[in-house]
Amino acid sequence: MKIIVATGNEGKIKEMREILKGDGIELLSLKDAGLLDVEIIEDGKTFEENAIIKAKKICEVSGEMVLADDSGLEVDALNGAPGIYSARYLGRDVPYTEKNNHIIKELEGLEGEERSARFVCVIACAFPNGEVISTKGTIEGQIGFSEKGENGFGYDPIFLLPERNLTTAEITPEEKNKISHRGKALVKMYETLKERGILKD
Ligand code: IMP
Repeated sequence: MKIIVATGNEGKIKEMREILKGDGIELLSLKDAGLLDVEIIEDGKTFEENAIIKAKKICEVSGEMVLADDSGLEVDALNGAPGIYSARYLGRDVPYTEKNNHIIKELEGLEGEERSARFVCVIACAFPNGEVISTKGTIEGQIGFSEKGENGFGYDPIFLLPERNLTTAEITPEEKNKISHRGKALVKMYETLKERGILKD
């Protein structure tokens, strides 16, 4: 079964393919589906609204079932920033090492729980009949004191799992997928689609 994923982010689609590996589902990126040029205006106020906007738009254009995710980092000491603006934080083209070091600086003087943060992911699935469903996953952590690790992408080098004293850039992709916001939201979506008989066992 082929499902289009409304993302141009290869890091995300790689993680999603890994999570659904062996289930007979082929995930097509916007590039694979030849839909990279479709203009999507992500003007929602929540992760859920943005995921639904993306899934619906690509579903309308393609006439196929479409999955879309919207995700980001919420830092409690920054009142939830960068939140839905995670990709655009300080400017879309600003390297992540700059975004990460900026957040570390903003949290100067804070310790332990005062550095609490979470990754959030909402996955929406849009159907050609106009119906949309969504699932959510989160992972709790803290902002580290320096960037650590080479795996993952984006804010992973500063997202510390305090109980392991490792960032999500220091654990393997397989370990991250088992505990991540995206992994949890995707497994919930997969189970919902199976319950509805849309995906077969
Ligand atoms: P989106 O493409 O609008 O959903 O933006 C998500 C942004 O949130 C990404 O570009 C990253 O900056 C950040 N983000 C989401 N998930 C992760 C993750 O698993 N690791 C690191 N950064 C993430």
